[in-house]
Amino acid sequence: MMPIDGGAHMNHKHALQHNIFKTIGAIADEASLDCYVIGGFVRDYFLEKKSPKDIDIVVVGSGIALAKKVASRLKGKPKVSIFKNFGTAMIKHRDLELEFVGARKESYHHDSRKPIVEDGTLEDDQKRRDFTINALALSLNSTTFGDLLDPFDGLGDLNRKLIRTPLNPDITYSDDPLRMMRAIRFASQLNFTIELKSLQAIAQSNDRLKIVSKERTIDELNKILMTDKPSIGFTLLHQTGLLPLILPELIALQGIEEVEGQRHKDNFWHTLEVVDNIAQTTDNLWLRWAALLHDIGKAPTKRFDKKIGWTFHAHEFVGSKMVYKLFKRLRLPLNDKMKFVQKMVLMSSRPVILAEDHVTDSAVRRLVFDAGDHVDDLMTLCEADITTKNPKKQKKYLNNFKKVRQKITEVEERDRVRNFQPPISGEEIMKTFDLKPSKEIGVIKEAIKEAILEGEIPNEYTAAHQYMLKKGKEIGLNPNNSE
Ligand code: ATP
Ligand code: MG
Repeated sequence: MMPIDGGAHMNHKHALQHNIFKTIGAIADEASLDCYVIGGFVRDYFLEKKSPKDIDIVVVGSGIALAKKVASRLKGKPKVSIFKNFGTAMIKHRDLELEFVGARKESYHHDSRKPIVEDGTLEDDQKRRDFTINALALSLNSTTFGDLLDPFDGLGDLNRKLIRTPLNPDITYSDDPLRMMRAIRFASQLNFTIELKSLQAIAQSNDRLKIVSKERTIDELNKILMTDKPSIGFTLLHQTGLLPLILPELIALQGIEEVEGQRHKDNFWHTLEVVDNIAQTTDNLWLRWAALLHDIGKAPTKRFDKKIGWTFHAHEFVGSKMVYKLFKRLRLPLNDKMKFVQKMVLMSSRPVILAEDHVTDSAVRRLVFDAGDHVDDLMTLCEADITTKNPKKQKKYLNNFKKVRQKITEVEERDRVRNFQPPISGEEIMKTFDLKPSKEIGVIKEAIKEAILEGEIPNEYTAAHQYMLKKGKEIGLNPNNSE
C-alpha cells in the first residue's frame, strides 16, 4: 500500500464517483442536512480495495426521513426497509445496499449490547464507532463534497496498520463486546496490529463475550476463518483468552508432554498451521472448519504406551463425534455442512496411511467408495496437514499424495465407485433365487460390493451376475428355472 496522504487539505471526490453519492448529497442540501458516507466504504477506498457493496450513510438528522426522500427520487422507487428500533433504514439500489442512520450518541447498560440512543453530532457518531479506521467520513453535501472528516486520525492508523478505538478501549469493548471479535477479525483480514491498550482491554473484558449472541460471534469467527492467514486471528483469540470461551476443544490440544524421553507435537499450533495451509488452496468455509477441527479428538484419546509411545487411538472417530456437539453449542448448521465436516474429520488419516504404504488399487477404491464426491476435498485436507519442517520429508509426503491423486483418477475412470450403485439390485437377487426378503439378499449384495472394491471382479453387470450365482451356490441357494 502506498502511504496514504489524505490530510484535511486533500479532497477525495474520486472515492465518490458513483452517481448515487451526488444524488444523496443534493437531497441532503435541499433539506439543509449534513450528510456523509462513513465506515467500511471509506476505509476500503483508502486501502485501495474493491468497493464494498454495503454503504453506510450518516446524516445529522433523521436517517429514516432521508432514506425515504432518496428512495422516492431513484428510478424504480426502491423499497425502504425501516428498522425503527435501530433508527436505521436500508435501500437496495442496483447491486448496492445503502444503510442510512441519523448521527447519534450512545450509552450502554452493563448487561446488554443494546445502547440507549440520543441525537448527536457527526463527531458524536464517530466516537461511537468501533475503530478509528471505521470512523472515517467523507462529506456528500455539494459545497464540501469529498472532504474527509477524521477527528481520531484513522488515516494515520491505516498507514500504521493499527486497530485502535476512538475512545478509551476499556469502555469501547465493555460497552459492546462484539467489538472484541471485530478487532481481531479486522486484524486478521487486513494484517493489522491491535494497539496494546486495546489488546489489554480485550484480555481484561474477555468474559463479557457471554452477552454477545452465538450467531454474531460465529459470524466473526467465520470471517476470521475466511481470511488469507487465519492463524493471525486465532493467535489473537488465544492471546486474549477469547478462544477458550468459544472453542475449548482447540485449547485442549495445546502443549507438549514428555514421558520417558518421548514427546508428541503441539497439536494446537499444528492445527493453526494446517488452517493457514488450507487457506491457500480452498475458499470452502466448511473445508476450513474441517481443518480447524481435524485433530480435536486427540485430546481425549491421548495415551502413553510404553512400547509404542504416544498414541491417539481412534481420535478421528472421537473427533467426528465431537463435531456434532460443538456445532450444536455454537449454533452452527446441523445439516449436510456439519455432516461434511464430520466425514472429513473421520476420514482425515485415511489418505495418510495410504500414502505411507504401497498405494494399492483396492485401497484407493475403498477410499473413493467411502469419501464419495468429497474425495478431492479430503485430499486437499491431507495435503494441508503436512506441516513437517523437514524439506525432504515434506517433498516425499506431497509426492506420495500426488500418487494417490493419480491413482484416484485412474481407478475412478475404470471402476466408477464414486457414489457407488450396486450393479445387481436386491430385487434381481430375490427373483434369481426365488427368495422372500431375507438376510441372504444382504449377504450376496455385500459380497458383490466387496469383490468389486477388492478388484476381484470389474464393476459391471455380467461379471457381477456371474459372481452372484457363484456366491449363491456357496451359501446353498439354487437359481430358479428361468435362470
Ligand atoms: P465489513 O462490511 O467489511 O465487515 P464494515 O466496517 O463496513 O466492514 P459493518 O459491519 O458493515 O463493517 O459496519 C459498518 C460500520 O458501522 C463500521 O465501519 C463501523 O463504523 C460501524 N460499526 C459496525 N459494528 C459496530 C460495532 N459493534 N460497534 C461500533 N461501530 C460499529
Ligand atoms: Mg460494511
